[in-house]
Amino acid sequence: MANDGPVEHGYPHLETVRAAITALYKRLSYDTVQTFSTSVLPADVAFADTDDLHLGAQRVARELVRHYRLPDARMIVGFREMTHAANVELAAGPEYFIELNDRFRTHRRDIGAALAHEVMHVYLHRLDLSFPGTRDNEILTDTATTYLGAGWLLLDAYREDAASSQKLGYLTPEEFGYVLAKRALVFGEDPSIWFTSPQAYEAYNRGMTKARHDEQQPPLTAAGWAGRRRYARDRRHAQAHHTGPASGSAGPEVRYSFTPDGTPGDHGPLRVSFPCPTCHQRIRVPVKGRVRARCGLCRTVLECDT
Ligand SMILES: [Zn+2]
Ligand SMILES: [Zn+2]
Repeated sequence: MANDGPVEHGYPHLETVRAAITALYKRLSYDTVQTFSTSVLPADVAFADTDDLHLGAQRVARELVRHYRLPDARMIVGFREMTHAANVELAAGPEYFIELNDRFRTHRRDIGAALAHEVMHVYLHRLDLSFPGTRDNEILTDTATTYLGAGWLLLDAYREDAASSQKLGYLTPEEFGYVLAKRALVFGEDPSIWFTSPQAYEAYNRGMTKARHDEQQPPLTAAGWAGRRRYARDRRHAQAHHTGPASGSAGPEVRYSFTPDGTPGDHGPLRVSFPCPTCHQRIRVPVKGRVRARCGLCRTVLECDT
């Protein structure tokens, strides 16, 4: 887990975050994701300054092991001087050694956040789920931590005042907010009541706006007027040319594309493909007006006007 440096904002890792959510659903299945409907609660990972440092860290680690349902995994938590915030040794188990930066000795309230990320490394290691490259794999780890109910701790560790700033994890505050909001929309949860950091609360609200934006893209019926108008123009273009995406309006926010049904060269009815707003798996439906589809991966029912 990385440490310090200037706090980056916005959504620079958005595509990897979305791919991580899809990968989680694919590897865990809808049913297993559903078993994470309850988040780690503040009381579960509370750490008072009067608590014994080592016993307290072990207790919080055990709570995370229980939350992720890691049978017989045992975390041995130690502290040492290091440049990174934390590190875990991914061995065969059942014992895993987690090292926390010495500064957590005096920042105990963030130990839960650091352990949430490190214990998730063990969870993904046991699932044999990883992304190639350190950067993408860390983004997968933060995304999975957040989507499965422990990542609000990481976002809450983000604090800024006139004199200093601190943030844990690889996602930006807005990206943590975005994943947390997607989780909140799926499970009907309100994590905002747990935040102690005002900056985390603001980042969550920005992430929620972004997450709702995903649910308002054409061809979904919830799309706004401008999006629907652009979609109609692109569809006319596709119908006239029997080609894929209309090159004219394609931009980073245009995520649907048209393809002819059937074999190449066959000018049959069009289909439109677009990412599921919940899990980002691509859905394909015929272009024929009102269509109700169900995402095969996350089971979200999608009302479309194609
Ligand atoms: Zn990590
Ligand atoms: Zn889906």
